[in-house]
Amino acid sequence: AAKTEERNAFRFYSPRMQADARRRIALASELRKALSEAEFRLMYQPTVEMRTGRIVAVEALLRWYHPQRGLIAPGEFIPMAEKLGLIRRIDQWVLQAACEQMSVWDKAGLPPLRMAVNVSANWFGQANFVDEIRMLLESRRLAPERLMLEITEGAILRLGEEMERTLHALHSLGVGVAIDDFGTGYSSMSYLKLRAIDYLKIDQSFVAGLPDDASDGAIVESMLTLCRRLDISPIAEGIETEEQHRFLLRAGCVEGQGFLYSRPVEPEVIVQLLSPGRRQGNSHLRLVPPEA
Ligand code: C2E
Ligand code: MG
Ligand code: MG
Ligand code: MG
Repeated sequence: AAKTEERNAFRFYSPRMQADARRRIALASELRKALSEAEFRLMYQPTVEMRTGRIVAVEALLRWYHPQRGLIAPGEFIPMAEKLGLIRRIDQWVLQAACEQMSVWDKAGLPPLRMAVNVSANWFGQANFVDEIRMLLESRRLAPERLMLEITEGAILRLGEEMERTLHALHSLGVGVAIDDFGTGYSSMSYLKLRAIDYLKIDQSFVAGLPDDASDGAIVESMLTLCRRLDISPIAEGIETEEQHRFLLRAGCVEGQGFLYSRPVEPEVIVQLLSPGRRQGNSHLRLVPPEA
């Protein structure tokens, strides 16, 4: 029976699906060359202190500029890189490049920002992950506090027995540890009891329905209470409207990220945004004035 079903399933392959499949196969082989051909670039999205609108951090977000196909979003190639076993080298490149960028900004006299870097489960789960991070920071003479690693609940789940040791090691190294997309994974919250998490990033799917959706409102308020009680700093993702900003600010959210403030931008734009004497509130950073 299974065989007939399989055969029948072929009927559902449309030309569109065949084209998608061909693209995936081609991208997979081209992804192997992307690092050596220097086709990756980092964009940086500001994180603001919600009360003041001050930029306190940036998140490094990877972009693949394919010579023929143009810009490819991480949502398409990161899962592919994970399957192909390429993600660790890509994440290492991202971390190096982000640290390099921090040094460049430091030399240019910019105020020190926190740099957030996304780390996939594959690399985070490796036995020597924390040592690699420590060595990188030492070699570049960067204070660990400047770096924040964003990991997902799935990555924590993957650690298994190593979870406690790894989280404590990272925490005592002094780098910030953030849970990305909080509330969308499959893991339990028991890792929060280790007191080794510094930031929770409230997933944009919960922010999207604010302020009208009662479920999103309840979930976000509970997350913010959880953060307050556990001394974790909350960061809301995907803030697009002033109404969302106001709801989150009133509910006690500390930091925010989203198109309302700024899209991910080229490093040069970050320099402009932070240059002294520059007034807040321009095309890139539409900061909302704090409520009276
Ligand atoms: P993420 O880490 O949760 O990053 C936030 C994503 O939301 C980014 O998409 C960002 O451009 C987008 N975003 C920010 N503000 C808004 C908003 O107001 N509205 C909406 N609709 N979207 C917003 P991006 O850059 O396409 O990245 C997607 C995901 O790819 C990231 O989600 C992260 O999981 C992954 N990723 C990106 N760069 C890297 C990397 O260097 N390494 C790894 N392992 N993963 C990465
Ligand atoms: Mg992230
Ligand atoms: Mg996220
Ligand atoms: Mg995400």
